[in-house]
Amino acid sequence: MQGWVRDVLRCPVCRGGLRDGSPGPDGGPAQLVCTGTCGSTYPVVDGIPVLLADEARPPGSGPGGAPPIPGGSER
Ligand SMILES: [Zn+2]
Repeated sequence: MQGWVRDVLRCPVCRGGLRDGSPGPDGGPAQLVCTGTCGSTYPVVDGIPVLLADEARPPGSGPGGAPPIPGGSER
């Protein structure tokens, strides 16, 4: 992925910036990680970042990982 592309991309959740996550088999990033307040992870499919809030994974979660921790902030 070109650097400038990632530069203009923004997290749909918090509008924060994005950085490359762990590399995939093709050498490009397999995911993008939000550097903003939410810290969500977005998958990269065939080199195309999928920046959808529905596809966002909370920090610390991985494939087959633990379920999201119930938040105590909801009333
Ligand atoms: Zn974010």
